This record gives sequence, structure tokens and C-alpha cells, in this order.
Amino acid sequence: MSFEHHILNPATEEVVATVPASTAADVDAAVVRAAGAQRAWAAAAPADRARLLRRFAAEVDEHVEELARLEVREAGHTLGNARWEAGNVRDLLDFAAGGVERLSGRQIPVAGGLDITVLEPLGVIGVIAPWNFPMPIAAWGTAPALAAGNAVILKPAETTPLTALRLAELALEAGLPENLFQVLPGAGDVAGNALVEHPGVAKIVFTGSTRVGKQIMAKCADRVKRVTLELGGKSPNIVFADADIEAAVAATPMSFLDNAGQDCCARTRILVQRSAYDRFLDLLAPAIEGVVVGDPSDDKTQMGPLISRAQLERVRAYVPEGAQAIRGSAPEGPGFWFAPTVLTGVGPDAAAATEEVFGPVAVVLPFDDEDDAVRLANATDYGLSGSIWTRDVGRALRVSQGVRAGNLSVNSHSSVRYSTPFGGFKQSGLGRELGPDALTAFTETKNIFISTEA
Ligand code: NAD
Repeated sequence: MSFEHHILNPATEEVVATVPASTAADVDAAVVRAAGAQRAWAAAAPADRARLLRRFAAEVDEHVEELARLEVREAGHTLGNARWEAGNVRDLLDFAAGGVERLSGRQIPVAGGLDITVLEPLGVIGVIAPWNFPMPIAAWGTAPALAAGNAVILKPAETTPLTALRLAELALEAGLPENLFQVLPGAGDVAGNALVEHPGVAKIVFTGSTRVGKQIMAKCADRVKRVTLELGGKSPNIVFADADIEAAVAATPMSFLDNAGQDCCARTRILVQRSAYDRFLDLLAPAIEGVVVGDPSDDKTQMGPLISRAQLERVRAYVPEGAQAIRGSAPEGPGFWFAPTVLTGVGPDAAAATEEVFGPVAVVLPFDDEDDAVRLANATDYGLSGSIWTRDVGRALRVSQGVRAGNLSVNSHSSVRYSTPFGGFKQSGLGRELGPDALTAFTETKNIFISTEA
């Protein structure tokens, strides 16, 4: 039986491409090819590997506009975001290339000899990516894995394989060896699952839902397969009354509306100190109403459509007819549109306040004091990101220490930089990506003792 996926433009619902779906047999064959390529790659001079990764980065740089426009068509991202995403792939490759010749082990003082550690590549890495940031997330795993001497098989999400396929072509054009970086589009429970179960795949880097992440972790346990999980989030945006309230309000809309809220770091729980609550809401209403939602290929657009009809239905279910809310606007007609929404009448235990909506929907909740803010912020199974708005430095540090999440920002909503570590506490994930240790996550440490007494 043959399968294929029709790739829709989420802003128009038109089919933009049809892509074959890989089978378990395709995965088997790809793993054999990857293993061969990996052995040669690991044996190559580090300077040569670094040079080829820099060439790959340069190739991506030359195609940023093409990749960005492809991302707009298949994922409905705004053009500005998509350009940033393609540039992020370039930067990750450059950053990882710089690590190839710096990936050193240690020399440890011991009696009777010399003790050294060697960081060896794992082998073939399976990267399973979601649809919400198809290019950057694919590259977060791929770039450091290649730099550390591994081969990569990337399984993009069903709805967004096009940029990944193009990146694989660019890798070859840059001179990377055949089969070192392969992209296998296909269904999660077929191609994705085959990677997870394959004995020739040494590690799985999974980004996606917590539900699927748990299944993958359980399957990896069978072989003690290495696994990194980047899962969901329900991140707080904590605004103290002593903050610059105008600045906090101005930054709030895009803190959960960027990428139409389909962002694992979206600050979807807006927690505001009670004494500033009414003023915050008064200022927030026009800011939400002013967000420009529409054609993602228009430079002025701030928010595009959701990825699919299924996602639209999922998001709708969290916002009942007549719910008390601040609402922005969205286009009518074809496309998977949902207007920016801040629910103002829900309690902290409501589904919209505790579950990841993955759409342009946030809740706003009041809190009394610092302890109450930290308690509310931590009242979730997730722990990915969060923001703290205050002018009091001591408070900013105390609350940063109290919130159990992997990526916090003070007076800002920044979460992701390729040079700093990223990952979740609790059920938001396992392991860290990016940052100074990104390559080490794709190595095994071997300790070697050499006796001087023989
Ligand atoms: P998903 O879990 O449905 O799918 C993610 C990927 O896993 C896709 O490629 C899919 O085909 C594959 N997959 C599905 N079932 C599989 C299986 N049984 N075995 C192997 N692979 C399988 O998630 P999604 O809906 O594509 O992405 C949205 C989710 O991703 C959100 O929950 C979001 O929070 C999360 N996310 C997390 C981060 C992070 O860094 N923490 C970043 C982006 C997205």
C-alpha cells in the first residue's frame, strides 16, 4: 500500500504539495545508509567536518528567503517569523560548527597513571520534529548531532515536511556526505515509531506533545535508548504591581500570540497582582484588539492562521460561546483562523487555565503577593518557561528561583537563543538542547586509564 500526505496552506486551505509517506522498511534502509555515512564522518578530520557544516550554514543563508516563503506556505507563519526561523537554522549550524574542534574530554588526576575521558559520537540519531516550528526545531537536534560526529534521520511532522526536505537538499549542495542527513517524511505512528523502535538508532530527540513524548520514553526504555524530550508548556507571565505596567502590557499580546499561540513557550497564564489587575486589563484590551491578524505573507501581519482544521476545533473547545473575554479580530472565509482571546472569567482550575491550548488563547488570573504568585505559577504539571515583570531586583531573583521551569525571563518574554540552554522541568521535558553543551548531548563519555607502572 502506498501513502502520501497532502500539504495544505493553512491560510487558504489549498494543497501546496503532496509528499510520500515513509514506511518502516524505508526507515530500515535509511538506518543502514546512515550507519555507513556516520562511520566515515566520525573518522574525518574535525576541521573538515567543521568546514562542511559552515558551508551548509552558508547554503542556508543564501536560501533564507526561499525557505521562509516555503514555511509561510506550509505552516502559515508570518513572513517575519519565517525569515527569523530560516536564519536560526543558519546560526545553529554555524554555532555547532564552532564546537566541532572544541569538543574536548578531560584529564583527571589519578594515582599510577593517566586518566582521560573521550567524547564519542552515539551513531545514528533520530530527530522527530513537530509542526509548530518545523525548521528551527529540526535544526536544534540536527546541527549539534552532526557536529558531534553523528548521522541524523529527521522525521518532520505530517503537515510540515517541505522545509525539512529542502534543507536535506541544501546539505548535499553544500557538500555534506550522502546519507549523513536524511529526511523521511511520514506518519508519527509509522515512520516515527520505526525510528523509536529501531535497534540501529542510538538516540531519539523528540519535540512534540507530552502524550506522545511519554509513549516514546517508555519505548526507549526497552533498549535504554537515549532520549531528549521537549514537550508541552503552560507558562506564566507574572506581573507585579511595581512593574512598568505599560511595558508589561505592551509585551503581553505577542507573548502568547506569536505563531498564533502554537508555541510551547507561550505565556498563556497571565498572572497579575490584584492591586494592578483592573488597570492591566483596561490597558490590555486595546492592545489585543490592535493585533493585526491576516495574510501571513504580508509584512505587516503579526499573527497568521492555525495549522489545521483539527487544531482549530481543538482551540475552539476551550472558548465556549459567550465566555467572558477580551477578543481581537480574525479574517472570515477559508483558512484556519481564530481571533486572539484573553479569558477573564475563568478560575485557576479551568481547563483553559491548566491545559496547553496551543492556540491564541490566554487566561488572566489575579494573585495577592509573591508567595501566591509562585504557588499559582507552579500549579501545573508543566515547567517550560515563564516571565516575571517587576522593578524590584531582589523580587525578580526570588521569584526566578521559586518558579520551577527551565527558561525564565525578567521584564522580557525571551526564551530561546541558540547559545543558551533550553528545556523543561517536570512534564515539559527531559534533557537540554542548544547552548554551550549542545554537542555533548550527542556523545557518550568513555573513561580511559593508562597505567604508568607497567
Ligand atoms: P505530536 O506529539 O502529535 O507530534 C510531534 C511529532 O511526533 C510529529 O512528527 C509526529 O508525526 C510524531 N509522532 C506522533 N506520534 C508518534 C509516535 N507514536 N511515535 C513516534 N513519533 C510520533 O505533537 P504536535 O502536535 O506535532 O506538536 C505540538 C506539541 O509540541 C505541543 O504540545 C507543543 O507544546 C510541543 N512542542 C514542544 C516544544 C519544546 O521545545 N518543548 C517545542 C515545540 C512544540
